[in-house]
Amino acid sequence: MRRDIEIAIIGAGLGGMTVAGLLQRAGFAVTVYEQADAFSRIGAGIHLSSNVTKIMRRLGIEDRLVEIGLHPDAFVSRKWDTGEVLFELPFDPASEAHYGGPYVNVHRGDLHAVLESALDHGTIAFGHRLAALESDGAGVRLTFENGHTAEADIAIGADGVRSRVREAVARTGGPRFSGHVAHRAVFPAARLEGLPIRACTKWWGPDRHILVYYMTQAREEVYVVSSVPAPEWPEGASVLPGDRDAFIADFDGFHPELRQVVAAAPDVTLWPVFDRDPLPHWSKGPLILLGDACHPLLPYMASGAAMAIEDAAVLARCFAEIDGEVADVTAWYEANRMPRVGKVREISLANTWLRGPTDPDWLFQYDACTVPLVAPQPAGGAADTVHQT
Ligand SMILES: Cc1cc2nc3c(=O)[nH]c(=O)nc-3n(C[C@H](O)[C@H](O)[C@H](O)COP(=O)(O)OP(=O)(O)OC[C@H]3O[C@@H](n4cnc5c(N)ncnc54)[C@H](O)[C@@H]3O)c2cc1C
Repeated sequence: MRRDIEIAIIGAGLGGMTVAGLLQRAGFAVTVYEQADAFSRIGAGIHLSSNVTKIMRRLGIEDRLVEIGLHPDAFVSRKWDTGEVLFELPFDPASEAHYGGPYVNVHRGDLHAVLESALDHGTIAFGHRLAALESDGAGVRLTFENGHTAEADIAIGADGVRSRVREAVARTGGPRFSGHVAHRAVFPAARLEGLPIRACTKWWGPDRHILVYYMTQAREEVYVVSSVPAPEWPEGASVLPGDRDAFIADFDGFHPELRQVVAAAPDVTLWPVFDRDPLPHWSKGPLILLGDACHPLLPYMASGAAMAIEDAAVLARCFAEIDGEVADVTAWYEANRMPRVGKVREISLANTWLRGPTDPDWLFQYDACTVPLVAPQPAGGAADTVHQT
């Protein structure tokens, strides 16, 4: 794709910032429009598996993330009541060499800050909430709630599960509440009063689960994130204060170690878990979607952000490597991303990932920055591959 185009990215989330950084490194001019006035250190952790840390390497921030995050010795799955270890996936130098990168747990706020540091100064226009966009097929005009307008040749919608850009690509209605909510809490490890816990454990109950992990090498903060059934979620709310007693009661009957962790959380927030049916296309003319904007995933494989970041890497490669117009770029992008995201969606829906013996090679070994790109399939024809460097 020619380099003299203006690319507008809507949303400075994990996918938006990654695609911005990689496009800048490939010589494209980008501006990221973010509705928030500034980033805040929201209380949540995130797992970065090696398929993600390899992309962070291309942005020059892998070492920094390893420094500030926690490199767990293993992912441990345990049975909710007896505490029996159902599966343990080790992360050691041998597995790191095998997967091609480390597995890191990090605070989302820290990840945001490090990603922002990988962008050219002034790339993000904060306080710009997209209100409307018009596209005449050749370009895009953006209108923001603050009254500003902007024009671009291409707009990338990285604006999350309630994407405005998606509404212009496909009229599909809002996201669907999955019938589960997530409790999230971050608290000082001192509140565990010396209870020894592993670096990263998922406790599997019959109709609910909870993940407990440290987010920094110093192990001074614990993060817990659950999934429990809930009949409904109030329309329009994105997060609600949780009831600590109800949270503790939700894990009655669980193993004493887990109950002690849950009881140590001084407060908790509640998040909805949303789903959507897959879209047939992730683009329309000069509008292109990535991440939760086109495929929100149940967070049960800890791979929603990972898929947004992989989308970003493959999309940036398609811009850099595919000769042609935007329709060619998007055809290659969709051909290379849809099958893999579809597989992650299926496993996330089943909520079986790492519950028992699992071979994660296909997920963790993937390198979005070097994997040979598969050509879009012509109607009735066989797929071809091209090896890009
Ligand atoms: C409870 C829970 C736990 C999770 N844990 C994990 C995990 O461990 N690992 C993992 O990989 N994934 C996890 N996920 C999923 C992950 O959070 C998302 O998949 C990921 O953040 C999607 O990234 P994104 O860049 O597509 O969108 P987002 O991160 O949602 O970013 C969207 C950005 O767009 C901005 N925006 C929205 N609308 C507008 C607008 N109109 N104008 C301008 N800006 C706008 C937003 O402010 C935001 O900055 C979890 C999800 C949940 C609910």
